[in-house]
Amino acid sequence: MSFTIQNVLIPVESGYETADVQVADNCISAIAHNLTPMGTIIDGKNKLLLPGFVNAHTHSSEMWQRGIIPPLPLELWLAELYDFTPLEPEQVYLSALGTAVETLLSGGTSVVDHLVLIPGQELETIAAAVRAYQEIGIRAFIGPLIQDEPLTAGMPVGDGGIEHAAYIRSTKATLELIEAAIKQFHNPEKGVNMLLAPTGTQLCSDALFEGCIDLGDRYNLCLHAHLLETSAQKQLAQEKYGCSAVKHLQQIGFLTPRTSLAHCVWLDDSDIAIVAETRSTVVHNPLSNLRLGSGIAPILKYRQAGVNVSFGCDGAASNDSQDLLEAIKMGSILHNITDLDYRHWITPRQSVEMASLGGAKGLNAADEMGSLTVGKKADFVLYDLTSLSLLPRTDPIGLLILGRPTNAVHSVWVNGKQIVAEGKVKTIDVDDLRRELFDRSEWTSKRQSQTVSEIEAHYRQVMKLQGYS
Ligand SMILES: [Zn+2]
Repeated sequence: MSFTIQNVLIPVESGYETADVQVADNCISAIAHNLTPMGTIIDGKNKLLLPGFVNAHTHSSEMWQRGIIPPLPLELWLAELYDFTPLEPEQVYLSALGTAVETLLSGGTSVVDHLVLIPGQELETIAAAVRAYQEIGIRAFIGPLIQDEPLTAGMPVGDGGIEHAAYIRSTKATLELIEAAIKQFHNPEKGVNMLLAPTGTQLCSDALFEGCIDLGDRYNLCLHAHLLETSAQKQLAQEKYGCSAVKHLQQIGFLTPRTSLAHCVWLDDSDIAIVAETRSTVVHNPLSNLRLGSGIAPILKYRQAGVNVSFGCDGAASNDSQDLLEAIKMGSILHNITDLDYRHWITPRQSVEMASLGGAKGLNAADEMGSLTVGKKADFVLYDLTSLSLLPRTDPIGLLILGRPTNAVHSVWVNGKQIVAEGKVKTIDVDDLRRELFDRSEWTSKRQSQTVSEIEAHYRQVMKLQGYS
């Protein structure tokens, strides 16, 4: 299968050029002026071609709860989330499709799904997500979300402490389950990559982290985790380790060039130096951090320290969308208020590079994707520069990143296969998906989380919030 996109605008060092881009055997085979046409011809006139972005951190099944969870900080928000989490693999399949559609239509060609597992149906959960991503054709990196401590252990103990039930599964059984999932589902040739993804220091033992490191080494897979998303987690790490979570993760060997870390809001300068030294990647989830009041990640400091940074939407219940362009815009301009020196601010071109090449680097895949380079996989997106939201004509990348693009994605290819054409997903029936999502849900504004009412007093106490009794 080969094709040629003719007369398309591509960014170059000094601005933009109009060129032809050819694809053969799933890869970019040539980029030049006036190439001899080969295969299907696609008109690229008045369109911009960019490498596909990576939605570098999300939890697809949260889509069932977007828009419903009240303004709460992460620890209480999570309690509510888990009280109403989907329990059918078919729901996981549908929300994975929904996540993929929104990612594709906002410039993404890869998704990192830190996938919440249905207890007792763990492999079925993963199978459902795999099926969705293969049907739609997005490149998937699936990290089954694992922990070996109960949710209440994720809060600082403070002076009081709180009773914990035992976690539902032993550490050993969890690691065996993950190894079985790797054997069954890891299939990069078919667009499915497994990640080792312990949720984070707040809910995982060292044995679980070490088991993941071992599996990562044995199967040559990337590592993924949340890191210091909230100040409560920072406090808990001090209680647990007597040092920062970053220092501890470095000591046990979890921080590597194959490790990507979601959030990274509460790192101090010495932690940032460790992330830089270990060449781990930071995944910036600005909308989720605002929504949950987690804080502003020190992204400009990471960039100055040479840390690779990419963007994620985070799950749709803490965002409450999967629009990558929105996350990229917010994650870029948010930092202008954190540093008076405007020379440190993120330019639209830098944002594009973070979202594409930065995402690829964090998945140890920069040799294969993340830029318009001959030899790399044909994972790219064609934007319609005649879309009303990108007019009048100024700098195309500035319009795309700083503006509020609507209906701007014209076509998307993943691994050389066209997934979106004329702004429509071709590989699945999106009307069917809409119907399923509609029929399996209902309008609702009131629901009561049992767990939130049980743990709120403790949370308010350890976070020293007024009137906590
Ligand atoms: Zn997350």
